Amino acid sequence: MRVGVLAFQGDVREHVSALIACGVYPISVRRASELAEVDALVIPGGESTTIAQLAQIFDLYQPIKDRIKAGMPVYGSCAGMILLADEILDASPEQKSFGGLDISVRRNAFGRQVDSFETQISFADGSSELMHAIFIRAPWVERVGHGIEVLTTFDSHPVAVRSKSILATAFHPEISGDYRVHRYFIEEVALPALQQVQ
Ligand code: GLN
Repeated sequence: MRVGVLAFQGDVREHVSALIACGVYPISVRRASELAEVDALVIPGGESTTIAQLAQIFDLYQPIKDRIKAGMPVYGSCAGMILLADEILDASPEQKSFGGLDISVRRNAFGRQVDSFETQISFADGSSELMHAIFIRAPWVERVGHGIEVLTTFDSHPVAVRSKSILATAFHPEISGDYRVHRYFIEEVALPALQQVQ
């Protein structure tokens, strides 16, 4: 399986390291020819407005949207979660997402109270071990639509969700060094989704 990391802005390097630690050697994606080479894509944490703008400038916005619609497995952390949501709350009117997940996310939702924080959460990957989770100006999920499974909540807000082929977390496992989420994406989301397509 060839996995790409969308490499316009954000913690690209950390996702690359996480994927390598999981035995996958990723491709950096900045142009349509690179997108065409990958079977699955990771959208990093960073600034969702900037990533969306650069995707438009580099003519990747529509191709990514189309690939996601066609079933390409995708994992997005934090800004990546925002970019995968069908609806963004507290966004400027011109902010775009690629969409694909029938959820509404609120940008910077934990913002005013705590801004950024670290905590231990459970993750529904079959392990009972808690996961160290880092939230940086993180969104939360405010509405969960059809076909969405909630994998983790924090303060009763969903912070990790999935559909058949899309995984999104409000926190940053690429920074904590706990790569269970990346492994889960590869083994439980991307591989089964790709096998179904073949
Ligand atoms: N608040 C940022 C956004 O709206 C996301 C922050 C992050 O990815 N750490 O894009």
